[in-house]
Amino acid sequence: MFDLKKYRKKSPWILHYNAGSCNGCDIEILAALSPKYDLERFGVINTGNPKQSDIFLVTGPVTYRTRERLVELYTQMPEPKVVIAVGSCACTGCVFRDMYNVEVGIDRYIPVDVYVPGCASSPELIIDGVVKGLEILEHKSKEMEKPFKLFKAATIDDGIVNRRHSALKVGEDDAKD
Ligand code: SF4
Repeated sequence: MFDLKKYRKKSPWILHYNAGSCNGCDIEILAALSPKYDLERFGVINTGNPKQSDIFLVTGPVTYRTRERLVELYTQMPEPKVVIAVGSCACTGCVFRDMYNVEVGIDRYIPVDVYVPGCASSPELIIDGVVKGLEILEHKSKEMEKPFKLFKAATIDDGIVNRRHSALKVGEDDAKD
């Protein structure tokens, strides 16, 4: 019988969403997918369908106009899934933080697994972030066999799931591996 878990890490599909980005980080994601950087060597395919995606790449601070769509896309993705915040805006809101129409990063609304900093983030860092995300995806696949432990580390503040403290930052915790 075909075992999906066995092959998921080798052929992850990504969903890319701009949650209010200036487009700088989005261009870097496209560059990472181009033949020059070749993110596809890891089996990655950029898909537009959340129901077929394993990795959610999000850019930009969350604006009031994009936040509902962000949560909707996240909830449509099947478990296990990995969320990667690409660029300083997605991580913290960056220079747009505290503006009247902007939130303070995407983890205000959905749990983030990997933070990729930079303004704009470079294709090399984005690739590092996706590779780290693949490790987390494999770990989550195994944890799915123990469903009651999957979200044990999550805390809930004001009804919002927050896993910022358990998330990894690219280049920061590699020494622990
Ligand atoms: S981090 Fe910089 S390049 Fe990326 S969306 Fe924000 S302002 Fe634009």
